[in-house]
Amino acid sequence: MVVKVNTSDGLRDVITVKVGKFNADVGINHPLAGITLTFDVEIIDIRAATDEEISHRHSHGWVPSACHQH
Ligand SMILES: [Zn+2]
Repeated sequence: MVVKVNTSDGLRDVITVKVGKFNADVGINHPLAGITLTFDVEIIDIRAATDEEISHRHSHGWVPSACHQH
């Protein structure tokens, strides 16, 4: 069973491993850890990297500042 646990890093999904009388053992790996995932993707567009992306050596995604903080 996947439950949410409040941690110092915010809420995390954990897997309940064993429930005892006073405590519960949980696994903190992602619920999909260890499972082979297969994606079927289609490239619908490409664009040139921005100067900032080239200097950072990674993509910054399509939504400005939505997934990038540094
Ligand atoms: Zn960057």
